Amino acid sequence: MTPVKAVPSPRKIVVFSGSGVSAESGLPTFREAGGLWRQYAWEEVASPQGWQKHPEVVLEFYNERRRLAADAQPNAAHRAIAELERDFDVVVVTQNVDDLHERAGSTRVLHVHGELVFAKGEHSGLRQRIGAAPIRMGQLCPQGSQLRPDIVWFGESIEHYDEAQAHVASAARLLVVGTSLSVFPAASLVHAAPASADKVLIAPELDGAAPQGFEWLRGKATECVPQVVARWLEAGTTSAGT
Ligand code: NAD
Repeated sequence: MTPVKAVPSPRKIVVFSGSGVSAESGLPTFREAGGLWRQYAWEEVASPQGWQKHPEVVLEFYNERRRLAADAQPNAAHRAIAELERDFDVVVVTQNVDDLHERAGSTRVLHVHGELVFAKGEHSGLRQRIGAAPIRMGQLCPQGSQLRPDIVWFGESIEHYDEAQAHVASAARLLVVGTSLSVFPAASLVHAAPASADKVLIAPELDGAAPQGFEWLRGKATECVPQVVARWLEAGTTSAGT
């Protein structure tokens, strides 16, 4: 992991995204009506216990997620976020396991919950890129352990947390989009932002209020993200809140 100094910089923007940013690309969100966990019991497909019980069911679940993500296209929100790199130092911290931010052109993306396009040995942890291909039972890593999805399951440790937190702590602007902020510890990252940072949250609805200090734009990612990006590109670094 690269150590990141939490020194606020007017050029620094952190985007923290969740499944809602990919909803308009046709990928189901997490908890909403029609969301994944209304159709599947998370214990069965997204936990170490589910993997021990029936690894073939877990592989099938993620093979389908991987196939759908590969067929999906980045939307206007992913593309607008990538455009910010024209003028700013941008880090995308995403809870998403799809690669739509990268395919839209974002070059610095931290996946705190893993990535569908990678597999890893269940015991070795050795990662390998598999792209859109399915993982099968009997498919082994170079050290001989069964390949599993490179996804952070419930009860497992989040990835890149300290690095992500340092990026948030050094941001002049923070854009939070498409997350219910209900999966911890990822959701607590938003509290690392400097009080002076310009903080915007985009989601059609939330369970409670937006976190303190955030401007909440109640709308869809493809409509609101390009507006915020246009505003920030136009303002440049001058009005950044450091
Ligand atoms: P969540 O389902 O808890 O919340 C989704 C949020 O997105 C809600 O607040 C909802 O109002 C908002 N939303 C829905 N449609 C939107 C749109 N068009 N524009 C903007 N916002 C919209 O999801 P979460 O907070 O990301 O939960 C985290 C978990 O979901 C993570 O662990 C992640 O790995 C997993 N997940 C990822 C994907 C993906 O990679 N595409 C898909 C499903 C679940």
